[in-house]
Parts: sequence; structure tokens; C-alpha cells
Amino acid sequence: MIYDVIIIGGGPSGLMAANVLQKHKLNYLILEKNDQLAKKLKLTGGKRCNVTNNLPVDGFIEALNMKHRRFLYHALKTFGPEEIIAFFKQRGLGLLLEQGLKYFPETQLSQSVLDALLHDIDQRRILFKESVKTLVKHEHTFEVVTANQTLISSCVIVATGSKAYPTTGSSGDGVVFAKNLGLETIPFTPAETHVYVDQVKTDYKDLQGVTISQAELTIEGVKKTFPGGVLFTHFGLSGPAVLHASEVIAEKSLHEDVYVHFPLTEWHEHDVLKRFDQALQKNEMLNLFLEEILTKRLSKKIVEWLDITQKRMSEYSKKDRERILDMIFRFRLKIDRVETIERAFVNAGGVSTKELDPKTMMVKRIPGLYFVGETTDLQGPIGGFNLTIAFSTGHLAAEACYMQIHLS
Ligand SMILES: Cc1cc2nc3c(=O)[nH]c(=O)nc-3n(C[C@H](O)[C@H](O)[C@H](O)COP(=O)(O)OP(=O)(O)OC[C@H]3O[C@@H](n4cnc5c(N)ncnc54)[C@H](O)[C@@H]3O)c2cc1C
Repeated sequence: MIYDVIIIGGGPSGLMAANVLQKHKLNYLILEKNDQLAKKLKLTGGKRCNVTNNLPVDGFIEALNMKHRRFLYHALKTFGPEEIIAFFKQRGLGLLLEQGLKYFPETQLSQSVLDALLHDIDQRRILFKESVKTLVKHEHTFEVVTANQTLISSCVIVATGSKAYPTTGSSGDGVVFAKNLGLETIPFTPAETHVYVDQVKTDYKDLQGVTISQAELTIEGVKKTFPGGVLFTHFGLSGPAVLHASEVIAEKSLHEDVYVHFPLTEWHEHDVLKRFDQALQKNEMLNLFLEEILTKRLSKKIVEWLDITQKRMSEYSKKDRERILDMIFRFRLKIDRVETIERAFVNAGGVSTKELDPKTMMVKRIPGLYFVGETTDLQGPIGGFNLTIAFSTGHLAAEACYMQIHLS
């Protein structure tokens, strides 16, 4: 039998594609290497699953770090956050907005997202423990070889994910298929993850556990800044700003040492400066000023790190006053390394978007072959971006398969 479409991988991108194929009544199969579907999806958002966000398409694209971010414009315009929310609502799952940005299922369970994705799918079309080993292109068909059998189809959608969290089944197989077919691929690098900073384990040990929730992080030599807050951990840095920046840090660290800086206070710079001038005019003790804008612990430490003594404001030289403000506004650290590809939440890299048609996700030089989700060089920061990309590209590819089969 020749199937219309074989989907390799039963994660979010593959399952969204299956929903479209089911709607169009195509003869399709999902091949999943695990004995269950979407293991990674179940872990998302602390098992609550941040499904998508409330950004308009332009705002969504603007928030991405990738240079080729506009590749996603068509996919998101066709099936973006609004359509994703409607998709789940139609299957009985409402999504609730949190922090004015992120949508989570009203049940607070990622399992409900999976249930909704499976609502319309004919279970007989899912084959478990079918790890695809090879993908061969023939003139009008594809041969999909697993350890158990060889299957033939007119179209193939590769939805195998990246190398992040390999215990969930994502081991980068899509990129191996692409390479074997002569396609350009970009090596996977860690994204959305923590960074290691030796200084936090030595000189700045006292900062472990401290959170600066409004801090905006700057990577030296990079124009873009990363808002969202920083957390000092026992190994270095974490928190939303760091997770967002990690993809850029990882890329930059391939060529050079990377330094970041961020403020140690949650006060606005303008207010700090105003308070500083006031303290100077009143000739207050330094600690009075510091304890107001920082925690007591941090105030003490700053004096120690700058190697100055506690005294009245006017007794410090201009240079020392500048050093104090500089440490408060631009606390500088050298990044020693980024978390590994396997332990990162997401991977940058994958099948190059240069090989793919942004209107269909089809390989330009291999009609009938599609790559979707994290197996492609498309990724975003935390905030429901990655699942949106998986759903959006999976949807686009399946609609394109339908058109291809329908017109042939
Ligand atoms: C802990 C964690 C939390 C996250 N939280 C969020 C969040 O809240 N919101 C968000 O937007 N993103 C989140 N992400 C990212 C998001 O989960 C991924 O971007 C998304 O799952 C990618 O979907 P995918 O379908 O492309 O690939 P995957 O989810 O990786 O699915 C790929 C599937 O293909 C199967 N497969 C692989 N190779 C083969 C093969 N050779 N043959 C057959 N089957 C194969 C795998 O077993 C797997 O089932 C999180 C990631 C992690 C690790």
C-alpha cells in the first residue's frame, strides 16, 4: 500500500499535522519510536504546558533571537497563537492567560493538551515502537524504513524534534535523514537554558539564591537586551532573561569569551540616581543609600567587593562613587559555559531554513518531503514560542501535503 503521508514523530508538531490530515481524510500514518506519544510535551511548563502566547504575529517574530526569524511569518499568519487557542477551544480545552503573555490549559495539566491533540485522530493510524532508521527518496514516493518494516508514501513529514532531552525520544534523527539526502543542516546548539559562571562559585558565592526579578541582561557586543529577571544559582545564572539570552551566548561563545552585565537593583536607573544625589547632598552614610535600593546582604557585599570602607558619601572620591554606581547598574560576569545540548530545554540549529519553502515547509529540491518543529532551525525563547512554532509549522506542512495529494 502507498500511504498519502507518513509522519515521523508523534510530538506536538507531528500530532498537529495529523489533525489536519485527519480532517482532509487522507491515508496517513504516524510512526513514533516510543511506546507513548509526546513525552516531551507532557513535561512542558512544569507539566502545565505553556501552549502559546498572546502576541500578534509581528510581535511574536520580533521576540525571536534568530536572524532568519521572518521565515516564520507565513506559518504564523496561517496558524498562529489565535488559531491555536481556537483549535484547543474547539476540542473542549480552554486556555488561560498568565502574566499578560503566556497561555496555559485551564486544567493546569499538559496531559489535557495531549488529549485535545488526540481528540480527532484515528488511533489506528499511530504505530508505536517504530523508530525510523532510514528515509529513501524514489522518483514519486518515499521509502520509510523502521527496524520492523518498510513503508511507502507519497509525502513524508519529518517531526522528530531536536537533541534536547533525549530521554523523551528526541535524538536528532531528522537531521541525520536530511544530511543523508544532501540537505544543509546547522549543528544543534543549546537554547533556553542556564549558564555556568565560575565567579558565582568563588568570588560571588554570597549571591547564590538571590533573584533580581526585573533585571534586563546585556551581552557585551550584542545590541539586543534580554528582560525578565536573573537568578543566581549554585553553578551560575538562571532566570527568564538568562534562558532567553542563552541561545545568543552559546553562539557567541563558539568564537570568543562572553561577558554579560545586568543591574543588581530592581529600582529604575533614574530613581537610583535621584536617590544617590540626595544621599550625597545630605552626606549620608553609604550603607543607608545601598540598603534602600538593594538587600542588606548585597549592600554589605558590594562594599567588600569594591574594597572600600563604609563612610559618608562626600568622603568617597568621584572615581569611587562611579565604581559604586557601575556595580549597581552593570554587574559584570564572565560566562564559562552554557548548559549542554541534551540538558537544554530547546536546541537552536537543525535543518536549514534555506532548504525549506516558508509557505509550505517543503524541501525546495525534494517535492513531497517536509520538515517541521524543532528538527528545523527554528526556535524561540520561553513563553509558549516553541510549541507555537511546532503547531504552526506542523499545520502548514500538512495543509501543503493535502494540496499536493489533492492536485495530483
Ligand atoms: C522540560 C521542557 C519544558 C518545555 N516547556 C515548554 C513550554 O512550556 N512551552 C513551549 O512552547 N515549549 C516548551 N518546551 C519546548 C517544546 O517542548 C519543544 O519545542 C517541542 O516539544 C518540539 O516539538 P516537536 O514536535 O518538534 O518535537 P518533540 O516534542 O521532540 O517530538 C519529537 C517526537 O519524535 C519522536 N521521534 C524522534 N526520532 C524518531 C524516529 N527516528 N522515529 C520515530 N519517532 C521519532 C520522538 O520520540 C518524539 O515523540 C519545553 C521543553 C522541555 C524539554
